[in-house]
Amino acid sequence: MRFYIKVKNPAIDSGSRDGSIREAAPVADEIIGIIGAGIVGLAIGREISLRRPGTRVVVVEKESEVGQHQTGHNSGVVHAGIYYTPGSLKAELCTRGRLLLREYCGERGIAYDECGKLVVAVREDELGRLDDLEKRARENGVPGLRRVDPSGIREIEPHAAGLAALHSPETAITDFPGVAKAFAEDIRRAGGEVRLNFPVTAVKRNVGSIRIESGEQSVTVDQVIVCAGIHTDKVARLAGDEPAPRIIPFRGEYMRVSDEKTDLVRGMIYPVPDPRYPFLGVHFTRRVTGIVEVGPNAVLATAREGYTRTTFSLPDLAGIATWPGTWQMARKHWRTGIKEVRGSLSKSHYMAEAMRYVPEIGAADVVRAGAGVRAQALDRDGSLVDDFRIHRLGPVTAVRNAPSPAATSSLAIAAHVVAEIFG
Ligand SMILES: Cc1cc2nc3c(=O)[nH]c(=O)nc-3n(C[C@H](O)[C@H](O)[C@H](O)COP(=O)(O)OP(=O)(O)OC[C@H]3O[C@@H](n4cnc5c(N)ncnc54)[C@H](O)[C@@H]3O)c2cc1C
Repeated sequence: MRFYIKVKNPAIDSGSRDGSIREAAPVADEIIGIIGAGIVGLAIGREISLRRPGTRVVVVEKESEVGQHQTGHNSGVVHAGIYYTPGSLKAELCTRGRLLLREYCGERGIAYDECGKLVVAVREDELGRLDDLEKRARENGVPGLRRVDPSGIREIEPHAAGLAALHSPETAITDFPGVAKAFAEDIRRAGGEVRLNFPVTAVKRNVGSIRIESGEQSVTVDQVIVCAGIHTDKVARLAGDEPAPRIIPFRGEYMRVSDEKTDLVRGMIYPVPDPRYPFLGVHFTRRVTGIVEVGPNAVLATAREGYTRTTFSLPDLAGIATWPGTWQMARKHWRTGIKEVRGSLSKSHYMAEAMRYVPEIGAADVVRAGAGVRAQALDRDGSLVDDFRIHRLGPVTAVRNAPSPAATSSLAIAAHVVAEIFG
């Protein structure tokens, strides 16, 4: 039975100052604070709420709604595990996470469409890389994977062109912001709390407890899990974690295909990725809403929340510039950096890449359609952290690198983190 009483929530030191009626919090043996209500933080909060009766969850979020950053600005693709190094956390948690997510979307009536994906090689020199990708995908057990020739490509995607391709029929699209909202509902229903408009400004460790502060407000918890996406390194440091790795923001810009050309793409059409980068290359993606987008590219952003080319933050830039890894990365990858900036400035440069595998959609057929900012961890030595990275230091657990496919993997990441913390 649910009942309501007028109380100050025991987990909250200062909060509902209007004295509003709140659902009574069950008496908790332990309180876990989660910083960040993106899909990862919410999945972890949900997992704890459902699997550990007696443990109360309080998720705090700086925005006025959940899923406003990477979770709300991604491609909506449920990856099947093609790209990831066999044995890595990405490979393991993406494969498991996809199945869990498919089941969850089914239970909750959230859009989930297995429209399938082609990874197309258009040049002779890409065929070797396609072979390597196929080997990886098979080791990762990607279901239904098939190698197809040019006529096979046209059967699946009549307007795509290439020398050979991999077809992954179970790669899907979904509504990740919808999934995040459903996770938040699950947490609330299980007696936990998702506290919005709570930008964390300090995390104070005391004997036996931790105080998470946001100006005048605070929450006292037993353990903290940091899932702050693009701000994760800063927040983890507030909580006493190490400075490395640093988060570097890479903006991913999208183009929207005109309605007249939308039917030229049935599912998803990707290029063969460059193995030196954790990004998959500009691709065609159908959305659950029916629109088709091209993107995202990967441009170094001039602010952590640099959703446009003109967004600029001096402190963020100083943070990027003073990290030794940034300069090592720039030395290694400046040519690609310049190419990405050129594509960002010019629609025809941007579409020149995409036209290699869908020749009938050009610069005149697309309009700019917003962007997301990837939180990509960079080590001190200039290496882009490839795998998911989760770091535990006493009562603080920080998800330090959760780029794509972390949305796909969110339910499996949650189970993994909970097993790491509680055994
Ligand atoms: C352009 C792009 C395309 C992508 N495409 C895909 C895809 O197709 N498939 C896929 O699986 N993955 C994709 N990803 C990756 C995926 O979106 C992310 O891996 C995933 O959303 C990460 O979730 P998160 O919860 O860690 O981060 P976020 O969603 O960024 O959430 C972090 C939250 O922390 C909050 N926060 C930060 N600082 C504070 C603070 N001080 N106090 C309180 N709250 C704070 C933020 O407001 C935010 O809500 C893509 C990402 C991008 C950017």
